[in-house]
Amino acid sequence: VGERLYLGMDFGTSGARFAIINKDGTILSEGKKEYPKFTVTLFSLLEAVPVNLRPLIASISIDGTSATTIIIDSNSGEPLWRPFLYNESCPDALPVVKSIAPANHTVCSGTSTLCKLVSWWNTEGENRESALLLHQADWLLWLLHGKLGLSDYNNALKVGYDPELESYPPWLLSQPYSQLLPSVQAPGTSIGYLKEGIRTEFAQVLKQRLQYTLAGFPKDCVVCTGTTDSIAAFLAARATEPGKAVTSLGSTLAIKLLSTSRIEDARFGVYSHRLDDKWLVGGASNTGGAVLRQIFTDEQLEKLSEHIDPMEVSPLDYYPLQVVGERFPVADPKMVPRLHPRPQSDVEYLHGILESIARIEAKGYSLLKDMGATQVDEVFTAGGGAKNEKWTKIRERVLGLPVSRAIQTEAAYGAALLALKGAQAQHNEQ
Ligand code: ADP
Repeated sequence: VGERLYLGMDFGTSGARFAIINKDGTILSEGKKEYPKFTVTLFSLLEAVPVNLRPLIASISIDGTSATTIIIDSNSGEPLWRPFLYNESCPDALPVVKSIAPANHTVCSGTSTLCKLVSWWNTEGENRESALLLHQADWLLWLLHGKLGLSDYNNALKVGYDPELESYPPWLLSQPYSQLLPSVQAPGTSIGYLKEGIRTEFAQVLKQRLQYTLAGFPKDCVVCTGTTDSIAAFLAARATEPGKAVTSLGSTLAIKLLSTSRIEDARFGVYSHRLDDKWLVGGASNTGGAVLRQIFTDEQLEKLSEHIDPMEVSPLDYYPLQVVGERFPVADPKMVPRLHPRPQSDVEYLHGILESIARIEAKGYSLLKDMGATQVDEVFTAGGGAKNEKWTKIRERVLGLPVSRAIQTEAAYGAALLALKGAQAQHNEQ
């Protein structure tokens, strides 16, 4: 028997990717497809898996954008309505949702999965009796394993599932549309074998007259429950101990900390996802790289950074924001951006901005600790700002912690780790 491999697929906001890893986490193959439609992309991603690797794939998992929601007919498997996208808002459902959910619950946001469900139920509501709600990842995984009505507790959080109770709460179960809710498993739970039709020959998407050559996946290839795209990206960094964290320095600054305790505070937009016996606590600030890009080009950022002495404390104190308003680590919708005084030297200016963002990051971690989360002891970095070594040094000084660039940051890699987890659990059971 040759080496077994694990396939992860990521359906993110801008396109889909796959990663194939071995049990040590080494990547053997990667690929990317742009979206036309989710199903088409799923099959074209599978088709892109090198033919020589297919017989070695032991398991598959998928992550999708959080709160992308599909309502299907459980008899035919056909969608009853076009998918609701992750960022789509259903303000019409918000008053109803707020009236049934506890105050400040995660579902009390127009983009939550529950708002999408309630909006559909109240306005469309065709074939209600046979309707079933799936998240993007659940739906794509269903196409692979064929068992309808399954989700994971990361995707299900925004529809109201309580991962601590391991059930939907009573206020949700008493609603007539609760019959649409999928049953929930831990992410990376093996569900069943890859459907024979997909395994043996080809898949046809009849409406589009498309045909994919997918033959070559093995009989014992299992399909495992997935997660959301941002959790998959956290998993990729392999920060598996409480106290390990990932700061994402993209357009905005987001922090995610692995904690032994669950933290929620709607005022700051802080909530926790379950990861097995731990909690992934997250907060997101409006500061970040987008502000840098308003002032400097990426080339300037690189050149100016070369001249920064990261050991020197910058006397400049800014609060870089693109627009008015901040939520975490300061909840103030009226906060005004502060980027003055601007020194003559651009090096000093950039130094001041980078250090100010580092202080906001440090304040974020200390706020999570004050709320009761495990104290952070090491920070990995993802996103465009991760490549700036001077900034990393500044952050180490300001945070007083080891900071490094995460080796893997692709969500597809995190999904592959879930596939590995599912295959190992299945193996141990046998
Ligand atoms: P997004 O959140 O849009 O996916 P990325 O992770 O691609 O963002 O990161 C892009 C951000 O990285 C930009 O806003 C840019 O300001 C920032 N960035 C790019 N190069 C550097 C650099 N050398 N130092 C600091 N920040 C950088």
